[in-house]
Amino acid sequence: MNLVLFGPPGAGKGTQSQFIIKRFNLVHVSTGDLLRVAMKNKTSLGLEAKKFVDVGNLVPDSIMLSLIKEVIKNNKGKGLLLDGFPRNVPQAMELDQLFQAEKTPLDKAVFLEVDREILKARLIGRRVCATCGSAYQTEMKRPRVEGICDLDGGKLEHRKDDQPEVIDNRLEVYEKNTAPLKDYYKDMKKFVVVDGVGEPEVISGLIADAVLGKSRDLRGKE
Ligand code: AMP
Repeated sequence: MNLVLFGPPGAGKGTQSQFIIKRFNLVHVSTGDLLRVAMKNKTSLGLEAKKFVDVGNLVPDSIMLSLIKEVIKNNKGKGLLLDGFPRNVPQAMELDQLFQAEKTPLDKAVFLEVDREILKARLIGRRVCATCGSAYQTEMKRPRVEGICDLDGGKLEHRKDDQPEVIDNRLEVYEKNTAPLKDYYKDMKKFVVVDGVGEPEVISGLIADAVLGKSRDLRGKE
């Protein structure tokens, strides 16, 4: 099974990915995480990507496509959960071709829906572990020890692109480039939408049902 998980920044894609990969035995592919590792290691990809990521713009498609091709090549025979890819319609079309070439079609594109005001609050309050990437919230999901990850003791950081001045641009980039994927996947009859506000466990259950076709939202049938 191959799934795409998409939605605006702060919708909870990373958190929900952890659940979905276990539930459906998939490999988690977060292009944002891959770029952050490359940036941290100062590889040529990382140095190039940093110019775009730090200001909240999309990394050019040519770069992202070579990255995703590499991922697909290295995971032959395994189901993938794509988190953060595709980010626009051209990437989605390329992805379809790649999956077609592998004879492993996309099963569902799950859209996590969250209001803009909630997204902004989440992004401003988000802190992530510098080593494992686990996400916390300054108000709602605090670590046991301030500034330290519960899971591996890593230092919690405020992502550069989660600073208020970058957030607005990311949300605009999302509306312009990524939101059109909703219609793209509706036309392909792969679209399912899940309400991304609430208890993470409840949302996870809704995603599982949607993937299994148990409670497809009517909007997915438009
Ligand atoms: P994320 O962790 O998914 O929020 O991604 C962080 C940043 O990485 C985004 O704001 C983009 O700058 C970049 N990025 C991640 N995935 C993609 C993609 N598929 N296409 C272009 N840029 C991406």
